Amino acid sequence: MCIDLRSDTVTQPTPEIREAMCRAKVGDDVMDCDPTVSRLEEMSAEMLGKEAGMFVPSGTQSNLCALLSHCDRGDEYLVGQTAHTYLFEGGGAAVFGSIQPQSLDQEEDGTLALDKLAALVKPDDFHFARTKLLCLENTTWGKVLPLDYLKLVQSFASDYQLSLHLDGARLFNASAATGVSAVQLAKPFESVSICLSKGLGAPVGSVLVASACFIKEAKRWRKMLGGGMRQSGMLAAAGIYVLENHIERLIEDHENARQLGERLAGISKLRVDPIQTNMVFVDLSRFDGAAVSRTLEAKGIKIGGYTGGKKRLVTHLGISPKDIGYVVKGFEEACAG
Ligand SMILES: *Cc1c(COP(=O)(O)O)cnc(C)c1O
Repeated sequence: MCIDLRSDTVTQPTPEIREAMCRAKVGDDVMDCDPTVSRLEEMSAEMLGKEAGMFVPSGTQSNLCALLSHCDRGDEYLVGQTAHTYLFEGGGAAVFGSIQPQSLDQEEDGTLALDKLAALVKPDDFHFARTKLLCLENTTWGKVLPLDYLKLVQSFASDYQLSLHLDGARLFNASAATGVSAVQLAKPFESVSICLSKGLGAPVGSVLVASACFIKEAKRWRKMLGGGMRQSGMLAAAGIYVLENHIERLIEDHENARQLGERLAGISKLRVDPIQTNMVFVDLSRFDGAAVSRTLEAKGIKIGGYTGGKKRLVTHLGISPKDIGYVVKGFEEACAG
Protein backbone atom coordinates (compact mmCIF):
# COMPACT_ATOMS: atom_id res chain seq x y z
CA MET A 1 0.00 0.00 0.00
CA CYS A 2 1.33 3.42 -0.93
CA ILE A 3 -0.56 6.68 -0.60
CA ASP A 4 1.69 9.35 -2.04
CA LEU A 5 0.65 12.87 -1.06
CA ARG A 6 4.01 14.53 -1.72
CA SER A 7 2.85 16.13 -4.96
CA ASP A 8 0.32 15.90 -7.79
CA THR A 9 3.27 15.06 -10.07
CA VAL A 10 3.36 11.45 -8.83
CA THR A 11 0.29 10.26 -10.77
CA GLN A 12 0.57 7.15 -12.93
CA PRO A 13 -0.87 7.36 -16.44
CA THR A 14 -4.23 5.55 -16.60
CA PRO A 15 -4.87 2.74 -19.12
CA GLU A 16 -6.87 5.24 -21.23
CA ILE A 17 -3.92 7.66 -21.37
CA ARG A 18 -1.56 4.84 -22.36
CA GLU A 19 -3.94 3.75 -25.07
CA ALA A 20 -4.27 7.28 -26.46
CA MET A 21 -0.47 7.47 -26.60
CA CYS A 22 -0.23 4.19 -28.52
CA ARG A 23 -2.80 5.29 -31.09
CA ALA A 24 -1.27 8.73 -31.76
CA LYS A 25 -0.56 9.78 -35.36
CA VAL A 26 2.92 11.21 -35.38
CA GLY A 27 5.40 13.10 -37.56
CA ASP A 28 8.73 14.85 -37.10
CA ASP A 29 7.83 17.95 -35.12
CA VAL A 30 11.30 19.52 -35.52
CA MET A 31 11.55 19.03 -39.29
CA ASP A 32 8.02 20.08 -40.16
CA CYS A 33 5.17 19.04 -37.92
CA ASP A 34 3.63 16.31 -35.83
CA PRO A 35 -0.15 16.40 -36.28
CA THR A 36 -0.91 15.37 -32.70
CA VAL A 37 1.42 18.00 -31.26
CA SER A 38 -0.15 20.63 -33.51
CA ARG A 39 -3.59 19.62 -32.32
CA LEU A 40 -2.55 19.84 -28.64
CA GLU A 41 -1.02 23.27 -29.25
CA GLU A 42 -4.13 24.60 -31.01
CA MET A 43 -6.44 23.12 -28.44
CA SER A 44 -4.47 24.58 -25.50
CA ALA A 45 -4.36 28.02 -27.11
CA GLU A 46 -8.10 27.94 -27.65
CA MET A 47 -8.84 26.79 -24.10
CA LEU A 48 -6.85 29.75 -22.79
CA GLY A 49 -8.02 32.33 -25.30
CA LYS A 50 -4.64 32.81 -26.99
CA GLU A 51 -3.53 32.57 -30.62
CA ALA A 52 -0.90 29.84 -30.50
CA GLY A 53 0.74 27.23 -28.33
CA MET A 54 4.06 25.44 -27.92
CA PHE A 55 4.43 21.95 -26.46
CA VAL A 56 7.48 21.52 -24.21
CA PRO A 57 8.83 18.68 -22.09
CA SER A 58 8.49 20.52 -18.77
CA GLY A 59 6.98 23.52 -17.04
CA THR A 60 10.46 24.72 -16.25
CA GLN A 61 11.32 24.89 -19.94
CA SER A 62 7.99 26.54 -20.69
CA ASN A 63 8.59 29.33 -18.17
CA LEU A 64 12.19 29.71 -19.31
CA CYS A 65 11.22 30.03 -23.00
CA ALA A 66 8.65 32.65 -21.98
CA LEU A 67 11.14 34.67 -19.92
CA LEU A 68 13.73 34.50 -22.69
CA SER A 69 11.14 35.69 -25.21
CA HIS A 70 9.94 38.58 -23.02
CA CYS A 71 13.32 39.82 -21.81
CA ASP A 72 16.70 40.75 -23.30
CA ARG A 73 20.08 40.63 -21.55
CA GLY A 74 20.12 43.13 -18.70
CA ASP A 75 16.35 43.22 -18.37
CA GLU A 76 14.72 42.49 -15.06
CA TYR A 77 11.62 40.57 -14.04
CA LEU A 78 9.53 41.02 -10.90
CA VAL A 79 8.68 37.75 -9.20
CA GLY A 80 7.53 36.30 -5.88
CA GLN A 81 10.19 35.07 -3.47
CA THR A 82 8.72 31.56 -3.37
CA ALA A 83 7.49 31.46 -6.99
CA HIS A 84 8.51 28.35 -8.91
CA THR A 85 10.22 30.38 -11.65
CA TYR A 86 12.47 32.11 -9.15
CA LEU A 87 13.01 29.46 -6.49
CA PHE A 88 12.73 26.05 -8.13
CA GLU A 89 14.07 26.45 -11.66
CA GLY A 90 17.80 26.59 -10.95
CA GLY A 91 18.04 30.31 -11.73
CA GLY A 92 17.65 29.45 -15.43
CA ALA A 93 16.58 32.95 -16.50
CA ALA A 94 19.80 34.40 -15.04
CA VAL A 95 21.98 31.58 -16.39
CA PHE A 96 20.66 31.41 -19.96
CA GLY A 97 19.19 34.87 -20.46
CA SER A 98 21.19 37.24 -18.23
CA ILE A 99 17.78 38.27 -16.92
CA GLN A 100 17.95 39.74 -13.43
CA PRO A 101 15.23 38.64 -11.03
CA GLN A 102 13.83 41.22 -8.62
CA SER A 103 12.08 39.06 -6.08
CA LEU A 104 9.75 40.13 -3.30
CA ASP A 105 7.69 38.44 -0.59
CA GLN A 106 4.16 37.40 -1.48
CA GLU A 107 1.26 38.56 0.66
CA GLU A 108 -0.70 36.06 2.76
CA ASP A 109 -3.15 35.50 -0.13
CA GLY A 110 -0.38 34.73 -2.63
CA THR A 111 -0.51 38.09 -4.42
CA LEU A 112 2.35 40.53 -4.97
CA ALA A 113 1.32 43.89 -3.46
CA LEU A 114 1.07 46.54 -6.18
CA ASP A 115 2.53 49.34 -4.03
CA LYS A 116 5.56 47.17 -3.28
CA LEU A 117 5.91 46.31 -6.97
CA ALA A 118 5.65 50.00 -7.92
CA ALA A 119 8.52 50.81 -5.57
CA LEU A 120 10.67 48.14 -7.25
CA VAL A 121 10.16 49.24 -10.86
CA LYS A 122 13.45 50.91 -11.80
CA PRO A 123 13.68 54.38 -13.38
CA ASP A 124 14.89 54.63 -16.98
CA ASP A 125 18.54 55.29 -16.10
CA PHE A 126 21.66 53.34 -17.08
CA HIS A 127 22.48 52.65 -13.43
CA PHE A 128 19.62 50.20 -13.33
CA ALA A 129 18.48 47.06 -15.03
CA ARG A 130 15.40 47.61 -17.23
CA THR A 131 12.29 46.37 -15.43
CA LYS A 132 10.51 44.54 -18.20
CA LEU A 133 8.24 41.81 -16.92
CA LEU A 134 6.00 40.84 -14.05
CA CYS A 135 5.60 37.13 -13.46
CA LEU A 136 2.75 35.71 -11.39
CA GLU A 137 1.73 32.19 -10.40
CA ASN A 138 -1.84 30.81 -10.20
CA THR A 139 -2.49 28.76 -8.17
CA THR A 140 0.44 29.57 -5.92
CA TRP A 141 1.08 27.20 -3.02
CA GLY A 142 -2.49 26.00 -3.42
CA LYS A 143 -3.94 29.53 -3.31
CA VAL A 144 -6.03 31.14 -6.04
CA LEU A 145 -5.19 34.72 -7.04
CA PRO A 146 -8.35 36.85 -6.57
CA LEU A 147 -10.04 37.89 -9.82
CA ASP A 148 -10.19 41.55 -8.70
CA TYR A 149 -6.45 41.45 -8.18
CA LEU A 150 -5.89 40.17 -11.72
CA LYS A 151 -7.80 43.17 -13.07
CA LEU A 152 -5.68 45.56 -10.99
CA VAL A 153 -2.53 43.82 -12.19
CA GLN A 154 -3.50 44.36 -15.79
CA SER A 155 -3.85 48.12 -15.38
CA PHE A 156 -0.73 48.24 -13.19
CA ALA A 157 1.28 46.53 -15.94
CA SER A 158 -0.01 48.91 -18.56
CA ASP A 159 0.74 51.97 -16.34
CA TYR A 160 4.32 50.80 -15.85
CA GLN A 161 4.73 49.33 -19.34
CA LEU A 162 5.48 45.84 -18.07
CA SER A 163 4.78 42.59 -19.86
CA LEU A 164 2.88 39.92 -17.94
CA HIS A 165 3.64 36.20 -17.76
CA LEU A 166 1.58 33.68 -15.83
CA ASP A 167 3.02 30.46 -14.49
CA GLY A 168 -0.28 28.63 -14.63
CA ALA A 169 1.06 25.18 -13.83
CA ARG A 170 -2.19 24.67 -11.90
CA LEU A 171 -4.40 27.21 -13.67
CA PHE A 172 -7.18 24.66 -14.14
CA ASN A 173 -7.24 24.11 -10.38
CA ALA A 174 -7.80 27.86 -9.96
CA SER A 175 -10.60 27.68 -12.52
CA ALA A 176 -12.19 24.62 -10.88
CA ALA A 177 -12.06 26.23 -7.44
CA THR A 178 -13.66 29.52 -8.51
CA GLY A 179 -15.84 28.61 -11.46
CA VAL A 180 -14.07 31.36 -13.42
CA SER A 181 -13.08 30.17 -16.89
CA ALA A 182 -9.44 29.53 -17.77
CA VAL A 183 -9.83 32.09 -20.60
CA GLN A 184 -10.83 34.74 -18.08
CA LEU A 185 -7.99 33.86 -15.70
CA ALA A 186 -5.48 33.95 -18.56
CA LYS A 187 -6.77 37.18 -20.10
CA PRO A 188 -4.49 39.78 -18.46
CA PHE A 189 -1.34 37.87 -19.43
CA GLU A 190 0.57 37.95 -22.73
CA SER A 191 1.94 34.47 -22.08
CA VAL A 192 0.67 31.60 -19.96
CA SER A 193 2.29 28.28 -19.12
CA ILE A 194 0.19 25.28 -18.12
CA CYS A 195 1.37 21.88 -16.84
CA LEU A 196 -0.21 18.70 -18.16
CA SER A 197 1.71 16.52 -15.71
CA LYS A 198 0.40 17.92 -12.43
CA GLY A 199 -3.18 17.34 -11.33
CA LEU A 200 -4.27 16.64 -14.90
CA GLY A 201 -2.25 13.44 -14.78
CA ALA A 202 -0.33 13.28 -18.08
CA PRO A 203 3.10 11.64 -17.75
CA VAL A 204 5.04 14.51 -19.39
CA GLY A 205 4.61 17.98 -20.74
CA SER A 206 3.60 21.58 -20.52
CA VAL A 207 2.22 24.06 -23.03
CA LEU A 208 3.10 27.73 -23.39
CA VAL A 209 0.38 29.84 -25.02
CA ALA A 210 0.61 33.41 -26.33
CA SER A 211 0.32 35.37 -29.60
CA ALA A 212 1.52 33.64 -32.78
CA CYS A 213 4.44 36.05 -33.01
CA PHE A 214 5.51 35.38 -29.41
CA ILE A 215 5.31 31.61 -29.90
CA LYS A 216 7.48 31.86 -33.01
CA GLU A 217 10.19 33.49 -30.89
CA ALA A 218 9.65 31.00 -28.05
CA LYS A 219 10.11 28.08 -30.47
CA ARG A 220 13.55 29.42 -31.35
CA TRP A 221 14.48 29.36 -27.63
CA ARG A 222 12.95 25.90 -27.21
CA LYS A 223 15.22 24.61 -29.97
CA MET A 224 18.28 26.17 -28.33
CA LEU A 225 17.35 24.67 -24.97
CA GLY A 226 17.11 21.20 -26.49
CA GLY A 227 13.34 21.02 -26.28
CA GLY A 228 12.63 20.38 -29.97
CA MET A 229 11.22 16.84 -29.99
CA ARG A 230 10.61 14.53 -32.95
CA GLN A 231 7.66 12.07 -32.79
CA SER A 232 6.39 13.85 -29.69
CA GLY A 233 2.78 13.24 -30.71
CA MET A 234 3.12 10.13 -28.52
CA LEU A 235 3.42 12.49 -25.54
CA ALA A 236 1.03 15.14 -26.85
CA ALA A 237 -1.70 12.50 -27.17
CA ALA A 238 -1.59 12.08 -23.40
CA GLY A 239 -1.93 15.85 -23.07
CA ILE A 240 -4.97 15.95 -25.34
CA TYR A 241 -6.56 13.11 -23.41
CA VAL A 242 -6.16 14.82 -20.04
CA LEU A 243 -7.38 18.21 -21.31
CA GLU A 244 -10.48 16.48 -22.62
CA ASN A 245 -11.11 14.18 -19.67
CA HIS A 246 -9.38 15.27 -16.48
CA ILE A 247 -10.25 18.93 -16.00
CA GLU A 248 -13.73 18.44 -14.62
CA ARG A 249 -12.55 15.89 -12.07
CA LEU A 250 -10.20 18.40 -10.40
CA ILE A 251 -13.06 19.34 -8.08
CA GLU A 252 -12.84 15.80 -6.67
CA ASP A 253 -9.22 16.49 -5.68
CA HIS A 254 -10.33 19.75 -4.06
CA GLU A 255 -13.12 17.98 -2.18
CA ASN A 256 -10.68 15.31 -0.97
CA ALA A 257 -8.26 18.02 0.19
CA ARG A 258 -11.06 19.84 2.02
CA GLN A 259 -12.15 16.64 3.77
CA LEU A 260 -8.56 15.83 4.68
CA GLY A 261 -7.91 19.32 6.02
CA GLU A 262 -11.09 19.47 8.08
CA ARG A 263 -10.49 16.10 9.66
CA LEU A 264 -6.81 16.76 10.38
CA ALA A 265 -7.75 20.07 12.00
CA GLY A 266 -9.75 18.01 14.50
CA ILE A 267 -6.55 16.45 15.85
CA SER A 268 -5.33 18.16 19.00
CA LYS A 269 -2.39 20.58 18.49
CA LEU A 270 -2.38 20.05 14.72
CA ARG A 271 -2.94 23.27 12.81
CA VAL A 272 -4.10 23.31 9.20
CA ASP A 273 -4.01 26.27 6.78
CA PRO A 274 -7.28 27.21 5.02
CA ILE A 275 -7.75 25.05 1.92
CA GLN A 276 -8.68 26.43 -1.49
CA THR A 277 -7.60 23.76 -3.99
CA ASN A 278 -5.71 20.45 -3.85
CA MET A 279 -3.05 21.34 -1.26
CA VAL A 280 -3.19 20.91 2.48
CA PHE A 281 -0.47 22.49 4.63
CA VAL A 282 -0.25 21.16 8.17
CA ASP A 283 1.78 22.78 10.90
CA LEU A 284 3.65 20.06 12.77
CA SER A 285 5.83 22.44 14.80
CA ARG A 286 4.26 21.27 18.06
CA PHE A 287 5.26 17.71 17.22
CA ASP A 288 8.47 15.94 16.29
CA GLY A 289 7.83 16.40 12.58
CA ALA A 290 10.43 13.88 11.45
CA ALA A 291 8.99 11.24 13.80
CA VAL A 292 5.46 11.87 12.51
CA SER A 293 6.68 11.45 8.93
CA ARG A 294 8.47 8.20 9.82
CA THR A 295 5.37 6.76 11.48
CA LEU A 296 3.26 7.67 8.45
CA GLU A 297 5.88 6.26 6.09
CA ALA A 298 5.72 2.94 7.94
CA LYS A 299 1.97 2.90 7.17
CA GLY A 300 2.66 3.54 3.48
CA ILE A 301 1.79 7.24 3.59
CA LYS A 302 4.19 9.72 2.02
CA ILE A 303 3.88 13.42 2.72
CA GLY A 304 5.75 16.43 1.36
CA GLY A 305 8.97 18.02 2.60
CA TYR A 306 9.47 20.18 5.60
CA THR A 307 9.12 23.90 4.84
CA GLY A 308 9.06 26.35 7.73
CA GLY A 309 7.57 23.79 10.13
CA LYS A 310 4.83 22.88 7.67
CA LYS A 311 4.24 19.69 5.71
CA ARG A 312 2.48 19.60 2.37
CA LEU A 313 -0.17 17.06 1.41
CA VAL A 314 -1.41 17.15 -2.18
CA THR A 315 -4.46 15.30 -3.49
CA HIS A 316 -4.58 14.06 -7.09
CA LEU A 317 -5.83 11.48 -9.56
CA GLY A 318 -4.34 8.64 -7.50
CA ILE A 319 -6.02 9.57 -4.19
CA SER A 320 -9.54 8.39 -3.36
CA PRO A 321 -11.94 9.39 -0.54
CA LYS A 322 -11.13 6.03 1.08
CA ASP A 323 -7.43 6.94 1.10
CA ILE A 324 -8.32 10.15 2.95
CA GLY A 325 -9.89 8.14 5.77
CA TYR A 326 -6.78 5.98 6.02
CA VAL A 327 -4.46 9.03 6.07
CA VAL A 328 -6.50 10.72 8.81
CA LYS A 329 -6.28 7.57 10.94
CA GLY A 330 -2.54 7.44 10.28
CA PHE A 331 -2.15 11.03 11.49
CA GLU A 332 -4.26 10.36 14.57
CA GLU A 333 -1.91 7.56 15.55
CA ALA A 334 1.29 9.35 14.57
CA CYS A 335 0.28 12.49 16.49
CA ALA A 336 -0.86 10.61 19.60
CA GLY A 337 2.61 9.18 20.30
C1 LIG B 1 5.63 22.00 -11.32
C2 LIG B 1 5.61 23.45 -11.53
C3 LIG B 1 6.27 24.03 -12.63
C4 LIG B 1 7.04 23.27 -13.67
O1 LIG B 1 7.54 22.09 -13.28
P1 LIG B 1 8.24 20.97 -14.19
O2 LIG B 1 8.56 19.97 -13.15
O3 LIG B 1 9.43 21.60 -14.79
O4 LIG B 1 7.27 20.50 -15.20
C5 LIG B 1 6.18 25.40 -12.76
N1 LIG B 1 5.50 26.13 -11.89
C6 LIG B 1 4.85 25.63 -10.83
C7 LIG B 1 4.08 26.51 -9.93
C8 LIG B 1 4.90 24.26 -10.62
O5 LIG B 1 4.26 23.75 -9.57
